[in-house]
Amino acid sequence: MKAEIISIGTELLLGEITDTNASYLASKLPELGIDLLWVTQVGDNLGRLKECLERAWNRSDLVLTTGGLGPTEDDLTREAIAEMTGEKLSVDPDLERGLREFFSFRSFKMPECNIKQATLIPSAQAIPNPRGTAPGWWVEREGRLLIAMPGPPSEMQRMWEKEISGRLRVRLGHEIILSRTIKTFGFAESAVDEMVSPFLSSTNPTLAVYAKPDGIHLRLTAKAQSKEEAEEMIAQMESDIRSLLGESIWGCDDETLEGVVGSLLSEKGLTLATMESCTGGLLANTITDVPGSSSYFKGGLVAYTNGAKISYGVDAALLAQHGAISPEVAGDMAEAARHRLGADIGVSITGVAGPTQVEGKPVGTAHIAIDDGREKRLIFGIYPPLRQEVKRRATYHALFELRKVLLSYSNTPSETVKF
Ligand code: AMP
Ligand code: MG
Repeated sequence: MKAEIISIGTELLLGEITDTNASYLASKLPELGIDLLWVTQVGDNLGRLKECLERAWNRSDLVLTTGGLGPTEDDLTREAIAEMTGEKLSVDPDLERGLREFFSFRSFKMPECNIKQATLIPSAQAIPNPRGTAPGWWVEREGRLLIAMPGPPSEMQRMWEKEISGRLRVRLGHEIILSRTIKTFGFAESAVDEMVSPFLSSTNPTLAVYAKPDGIHLRLTAKAQSKEEAEEMIAQMESDIRSLLGESIWGCDDETLEGVVGSLLSEKGLTLATMESCTGGLLANTITDVPGSSSYFKGGLVAYTNGAKISYGVDAALLAQHGAISPEVAGDMAEAARHRLGADIGVSITGVAGPTQVEGKPVGTAHIAIDDGREKRLIFGIYPPLRQEVKRRATYHALFELRKVLLSYSNTPSETVKF
């Protein structure tokens, strides 16, 4: 099935909002085996909207629109679909009743302009939208399908999940496309590319390599008649790739490094503290992106100057001898964080984010240390010399190394020391 997305709204063309609706839908279509061939953005203009709809209707089996279903004058999607199909808009009594109830339940008088949200054309069915006042439209004509959804992402996503995808699945009922993403850290994109090169020419499943801030991702995509068959195809290629990339693999699909590390800390009953210099708190910020991280993350110290490092317990003589950008000081920072915040493990990052070098060390240099009281693991990193990139890469590098340390622990260390 050939599909096309039309994102409607002048804000999109002004660059005021990003078209996350199109990305969301694009990510959902492969699992239904639907090929997305075009994505268009168009402003709130009846003529141009109608033109886009006509073109889409003529060349695609499925047209998905988002936006323009609001109550105001610039919301013109219903009008444009009516013009495109040559059908007449009329108020649907059931929809009108529902809409009036929506307002009276909230003790508001319904503005009369909202009535247009209760309109339909003969070939449209309303799609329920409990999160808002605009129902979607399911339009079927001449063997083609057009689905109009509201613009607000939470309304659109609920409608897709609960009302649309299941209905499309039943209707299509055959080929599905399944993807799996394997996430690695430590190798450059070109190195990964080379290692997996025998698989890059495979047409089903396909393999694609992407560079991301948290490492290199590999996406495996299989097309098959059933989910089981596609899973089987992916599992085969995945196991080959795992044997090539080994320990650089840290996660899959929606997993994040901070989430993986958080789960390991919880599982092992360990607590964490950080001291950061060049990353300015990004490590602590990333760790706390995980809900519930307060159960294992004691806190983070941002020690940006040497004076701050000393005040948090870093040895002044060590700083004077080796400089702040050194493995020795990184090690001492990790230990100081652990002591200061009473954690089992301390992690530190010190380095040069740029744009100029520090202590004669080049931009992009970082020293990371992990101190768990048993040993200090010192890690050197060198990243592309762009400030934000250095901060991001050093943060993920620290999390990746922390994961390795945590994997070396058996579960619940407090129990293993009791005898
Ligand atoms: P509309 O239904 O066109 O009135 O859109 C209502 C709101 O939904 C807009 O102000 C945006 O905040 C959001 N929105 C609309 N279209 C999109 C889109 N393609 N991607 C993300 N958000 C959107
Ligand atoms: Mg709009």
